[in-house]
This record gives sequence, structure tokens and C-alpha cells, in this order.
Amino acid sequence: MIGAGIVGLSTAYALVEQGADVRVYESGVPGNGQSGGESRIFRHAHDDPRLVALTRSSRAVWNEWEERLGVELISSDGVLALGPSVEDRLRVLEDDGRIPVRMVGAAELGELLPPLASYEGPAMLDEEGGAIRTSAAIEALAGQLGDALVADEVISLEVTGRDTVEVRAGGSTCEHASVVVCAGRGTAGLARGMGLSLPVRLGAHVRGTFEVRGDPPPRLACLQDSSGQFGEVGAYAAPVAGNRRYAVGLSQAVEVREDGSLVDPRALASLAERASAYVKEALPGLDPDPLEPRHCWVTELPWSSDGVAVWEVDGIFFVAGHNLFKQAPGLGRALARAALGEGLPRELRPQAKLGQRGEAQSGA
Ligand SMILES: Cc1cc2nc3c(=O)[nH]c(=O)nc-3n(C[C@H](O)[C@H](O)[C@H](O)COP(=O)(O)OP(=O)(O)OC[C@H]3O[C@@H](n4cnc5c(N)ncnc54)[C@H](O)[C@@H]3O)c2cc1C
Repeated sequence: MIGAGIVGLSTAYALVEQGADVRVYESGVPGNGQSGGESRIFRHAHDDPRLVALTRSSRAVWNEWEERLGVELISSDGVLALGPSVEDRLRVLEDDGRIPVRMVGAAELGELLPPLASYEGPAMLDEEGGAIRTSAAIEALAGQLGDALVADEVISLEVTGRDTVEVRAGGSTCEHASVVVCAGRGTAGLARGMGLSLPVRLGAHVRGTFEVRGDPPPRLACLQDSSGQFGEVGAYAAPVAGNRRYAVGLSQAVEVREDGSLVDPRALASLAERASAYVKEALPGLDPDPLEPRHCWVTELPWSSDGVAVWEVDGIFFVAGHNLFKQAPGLGRALARAALGEGLPRELRPQAKLGQRGEAQSGA
């Protein structure tokens, strides 16, 4: 395994569940790449019904691990979606038939999300969505792996001709039966070394965390707002454990060149300022001065901001996509089976374009 973000840790733990020997190479601090910071949204709503099904099965694995590891991994706050796209997404979720989801009226919004300003448009509640307790998940999974986690950077991969892959890291050269590359921003470079060009777009992103005014409410639903009513057409938010803080961001990445430099060095500051302005309009129950930022790289596939795919070459699997935190346990189980020679599910192959609206109907 290369990379100890949530995808690598989940895959490694799924391999341990199968009784396999694993080694996880991590060049930095586990969970401090794209998986860093408190809180993510677990939502079932997606445009592609295949991704809805993957998310549903991932939720079942989250529940199983939560029970076994004895820590809360997803809160029961629910996820509220606002805006005109809600009706289409509700249809996709209702067609799945196994996800409790419903439209909600203005009066109920105040109970589900007390800091929200008055809103009259379409709103949907995903009852079994919630806030992912990110650092609890990273800590619990990393704790289960113990010595299998190796602090080192992988520099190159090579297929040996002996049914193994040679992994050259800073301080070791080892052969492994199979390798899963979950290196986030580092995945495309390692794939390129194996002759694969992944269509990954790199961006930079910032999200703020804001204090809830007054006592922490018992329920603080996550939010996906595409309504435009509060000056932005793509905002997301999730509570931090304890409901005293709410993390809010705009669903946008700033442009980055191939070498990782920002095209406009002020772009992150201006995205952060827009997020604070959104908080002022949409969430008057929060103090609009951000407490702390979370800056990070994001990697996205061209067909959808929720797209995910796995490229395979000679027993090496390269994972790429965005919004993968929620998917990690389900994806990890699928990757573990693939690494053990049981094959990769068809929908995870790049030609399936998982996450793209309409792709399921076209039979890909
Ligand atoms: C602010 C923000 C908000 C988000 N909101 C959501 C959300 O609400 N819901 C959701 O589901 N997702 C969300 N996402 C996306 C989600 O967090 C990421 O898709 C997910 O964390 C990616 O995990 P990963 O394990 O693939 O990558 P990473 O966490 O980036 O892990 C990759 C690891 O590989 C290591 N590495 C890289 N190269 C090498 C190498 N050569 N050798 C060894 N180690 C290496 C890195 O140090 C890193 O730790 C959000 C992301 C951000 C940044």
C-alpha cells in the first residue's frame, strides 16, 4: 500500500481483515494529505445511481467498523441539500429504494440546522448521512495497523517478472505480491513511471471552521447548498464533533500548474473570504470570523467532481478521484479483494466513468 490517507488505511485494514500481510508506506503523517482536518460529509446523494449504490455499501462497512473499533465514525445529524438539483437527486435516491430520504419544509429546517437563515426553496434530508469523524477514523485504522505502517517515501515501482512488484522507497527495496497506490496527489506521478497517464486534475482548496453562537445544538445537519440564494451556488458544510464548530467551504478548487504552483497566489485567500461572506448570509447562527483554515490539494477526474476510478497494470492498482472519504471503506474492501487476485469490479475501471451522470444508463 502506498499512502496512509483514508483510502490507503481502509484498504490496508480490509486486507488485514482477510488475513493478508500488509505494509503501508507513508511519506508524511498518516491522514494529513487530502484526508486532513476535522469532519467530512457522508452523503448518499449523487448523480450516478452506481455511485449511490457504492456509497450505500460503504455506509454498511462504516457501521461495521464503528461497532468493531468502538468509536463513533459517522454522526447521526443527517445531510440537508438545498437548491434546484435536489429534485433530480431525490429521484435517484428513491429509485435505489434503500435510502431514507425526504423533502423537508421551511419550518423543519430550523430544527435540523439551527444556524441556517430563512430559506423557502427545495430542501431534502438524507437521514442516514452525517458528519464523518475524520481524525477518529484515521487514528482508529492507523492504530489497527501498528508496525505495518512504514514512514518512508516510495520513489519507484517496477514489475519484476517473478509475479512481484519491486518497491523502491527512501530506505528500502522490497518485493510485494501486489501494490495499491492510494497516494493522493502522488498517485499520478507513480503511475506515469509505469507508463500510465492518469487524467487527474490537481487543484488547491481551502475550507474554514466557524464557531456556533450560543450553546451547541443537539442536532447540526451537514449542508450542501446549490440554491444560489445566499450568493454562492456551491457551498458545503459539516459539524465538528461536539457541535460547537461548523466547517464551511465553497465547492471550488483554485487553478494549479502541473508543477504544483498556483496560477494566482491570492486565489486561496479570496476563496476563504467568499466562504466567510457566505457564512454571514446563509448561517447567521455562526460567528463569520473563521477560527482556522484547512488548506489542501484536491485531485479530480474530468467526468465528475465525485468521479472515482482504479487503473490496473501488472498487479499494481492506482486509485484516483475526489470526495472519497465517504467511499473509503467500501472502496478499500474492493481494492483489498483486487489485490488478493479476486478482480476489480467493472464499475471501478476507468472506462466505466463512475460518478458521471447518465453513464449507468449508457451501460458503461
Ligand atoms: C477541505 C476538503 C473537504 C472535503 N470534503 C469531503 C466530503 O465532505 N466528503 C468526502 O467524502 N470527501 C471530501 N473530501 C475529499 C476527501 O477528503 C479525499 O478524497 C480523501 O481524503 C482522499 O483520501 P486519499 O487517501 O485518497 O488521499 P490522501 O489523504 O491525500 O492520502 C494520500 C497519502 O499518500 C501519501 N503519499 C503521497 N505520495 C507518496 C509516496 N510517494 N510515498 C509514500 N506516501 C505517499 C501522502 O503523504 C498522503 O498521506 C474533501 C477534501 C477536502 C480537502
